[in-house]
Amino acid sequence: MKIFTTRHQIAQYFTHKTGKTIGFVPTMGALHNGHISLIKRAQQACNEVVCSIFVNPTQFNDPKDLEKYPRPIAADIAMLEQAGCDILFNPPVSEIYDNNEKWHLNIGNLEHLLEGEFRPGHYQGVMQVVNKLFNIVKPDLAFFGQKDYQQFMVISKMVELLNMPVKLVMCPIQRETDGLAMSSRNVHLTAYDRQHALILSKALSGVKDSFGIADIPQLQLQAKQLINSEPGIGLEYFEIVDGDTLTPVSSNTKSIVALVAARAGKTRLIDNMLIV
Ligand code: AMP
Repeated sequence: MKIFTTRHQIAQYFTHKTGKTIGFVPTMGALHNGHISLIKRAQQACNEVVCSIFVNPTQFNDPKDLEKYPRPIAADIAMLEQAGCDILFNPPVSEIYDNNEKWHLNIGNLEHLLEGEFRPGHYQGVMQVVNKLFNIVKPDLAFFGQKDYQQFMVISKMVELLNMPVKLVMCPIQRETDGLAMSSRNVHLTAYDRQHALILSKALSGVKDSFGIADIPQLQLQAKQLINSEPGIGLEYFEIVDGDTLTPVSSNTKSIVALVAARAGKTRLIDNMLIV
């Protein structure tokens, strides 16, 4: 695997690579099998796969969260080598940002719903960095996890508004055998937190299993009650919404998704499940 840390190195490398399909998997590192599943999916569809590891400061609204974000770069490189990834782009912050750069793209209410309500400014930071990374890597296809369902919608909106020549691919959530969605933040969970965090995927599965038996407000209430009664878990939101708009289900709804965010101890976790 080639490891590049500058934009120039990426540009140089791809100068002579016309005609190849480039797949891109942006990450913040602390890789797990969820990330690797994206690399594998990219390899099926592309000639060359670029993974980026960049802990993007502009998407963190909590400086402590940024500071303690795990950065096991040697282990990450080993995992990418093992997966047969072609290129790792691992730039320092100074390679991506000048001081005090401004960014704003109006994507309407999508930015302020769900995650946006609890993490103000987060999605502007996500768009800012993904826009930069797309301009550097110039991928044909970019692969993102359903784990960050709303993020996928936000990036799709940016690509549409800016007419970016890239196709986005959503890949399924990888889970531990007990149902916990894989996440770089899971390393922060104590054994106690981890055990109780299982209530999130259980509540989502419960909604999926009971869909059609109870109505949506009932299902939502039951799921919230279940999570609220779990020790050590602080629920932020549990919503069952239209999968295309993240707004309440209506007669035009084609798919339904349940999304949850909660704190397990000090660790913030998100998860979701397609219901229909
Ligand atoms: P992150 O490093 O958390 O920014 O995630 C990088 C990419 O990996 C994003 O597209 C995530 O949605 C995706 N991802 C994270 N966790 C999982 C998972 N458990 N299963 C599938 N994809 C994931």
